[in-house]
Amino acid sequence: MKYCSTRGQVKGLSFTEAVMMGLADDGGLLLPENIPVIAPEELKKLSQLPYPELAFEIISRFATDIPADELKNIIERSYDSFKHPQITPLIKQDDLYILELFHGPTLAFKDVALQFLGNLFEYFLLQSGKRMNIIGATSGDTGSAAIYGVRGKRNINIFILHPKGRVSPIQELQMTTVTDDNVFNLAIEGTFDDAQAIVKEIFGDLAFKENHALGAVNSINWARVLAQIVYYFYAWFQVNKATGAEQFEISVPTGNFGDIFAGYIAKKMGVPIRRLILATNSNNILSRFINEGDYSMAVVHHSLSPSMDIQVASNFERYLFYLLDSQADLVIAAMNQFSRDKKMVFTPEQQQQVKAEFSAAAVDDETTLKTIQQFHQQTGYTLDPHTAVGVAVGRKVHNPDYPLVCLATAHPAKFGEAVAQAIGQSPELPPVFSDLASRDKKVETIAADTARIKSYISANAI
Ligand SMILES: *Cc1c(COP(=O)(O)O)cnc(C)c1O
Repeated sequence: MKYCSTRGQVKGLSFTEAVMMGLADDGGLLLPENIPVIAPEELKKLSQLPYPELAFEIISRFATDIPADELKNIIERSYDSFKHPQITPLIKQDDLYILELFHGPTLAFKDVALQFLGNLFEYFLLQSGKRMNIIGATSGDTGSAAIYGVRGKRNINIFILHPKGRVSPIQELQMTTVTDDNVFNLAIEGTFDDAQAIVKEIFGDLAFKENHALGAVNSINWARVLAQIVYYFYAWFQVNKATGAEQFEISVPTGNFGDIFAGYIAKKMGVPIRRLILATNSNNILSRFINEGDYSMAVVHHSLSPSMDIQVASNFERYLFYLLDSQADLVIAAMNQFSRDKKMVFTPEQQQQVKAEFSAAAVDDETTLKTIQQFHQQTGYTLDPHTAVGVAVGRKVHNPDYPLVCLATAHPAKFGEAVAQAIGQSPELPPVFSDLASRDKKVETIAADTARIKSYISANAI
């Protein structure tokens, strides 16, 4: 399998090259040159496999330059860290099914991809004798999942900047209680935007970037999308066994369009998803795009589902590539139009195509809280606010002739304050985290000053 960029200037990359490149050198995003379709008889065979074996069957079709035994080993180690024997169990609650994606080490679905990416990076670096220093800024979930993805790995150090005192207490503790030698937590005296601007500036210093072999783990890496494709197959096999249905719908709480794009690829590969349901909070650029063809930027609102407080979805360009018939020049024109006018326009035919593939809606914080409260009352099951956005939208727009699966993207205890607002009590952390507050910490408080942070990185880089 070869990889190419959505902007047409990068072609013929191997899987290894695509993962190590991250963002394509021409500014686009990397995609496989073709999508393998899995025939129904083969799907039947895959439906019998436990999660890690299924993951191998899917991922090996894309990662064709890794020897099978090595790839198997990478995948097994990635999902050994999950606390549930089924990795992503499907649970029936009331009128719908919930696919729990939060049994990984940081209790959020980002672990599904970042556990895999961390092991892949280590494998590639050991093979090539190279090293990597990962730099990232986080407002919460991604930072902790990235740290748990690479802690203790050889040839990799990771530096994660978070705004001091401005991430949730659990998210902060999840990061700062990782004391491995290769993990560096920097608490910035500033905001998340300051932290992000500093990271951008550091990556902009090309000599520094080269000297320290800087790398990123952001959501545009193809390996992250790839790992997420697997659970759409898994969800389908479980819901098909439970209902005998021939198709289903799946609701995905969306921010960067990464998770739902993985669903789009799974659908292209043969998973019978009737419609992908895109759920947003009040940051609704993506649901406006689907319902009205209006992809225009607005200001970011802070919501109770903060991991979806995003206006410019970094993975959207991948979908755009398919919508524009794989024509890189049209992708470039559309992206240029967006950076100039802060909006993109679509023809009625394109809008029709989008609506044939997706349903969508947005919900505000009030509806999110009400959904958590009512669902808890009806079923006893506690939704986290991101999952609640997906449940509210799924119930609103799905076709009731087909079973509905809702992705649960975080454990409710991770967003205990919002949950407490809805049901009057904060859910308990799972036992592995009950002693979180009393663990040793490793964190450096540092001024929001690029020069200071660069010299810290230089002193601690591998
Ligand atoms: C990151 C995240 C999302 C959004 O996922 P995207 O791939 O960015 O669309 C939803 N819920 C939680 C809990 C997250 O951490």
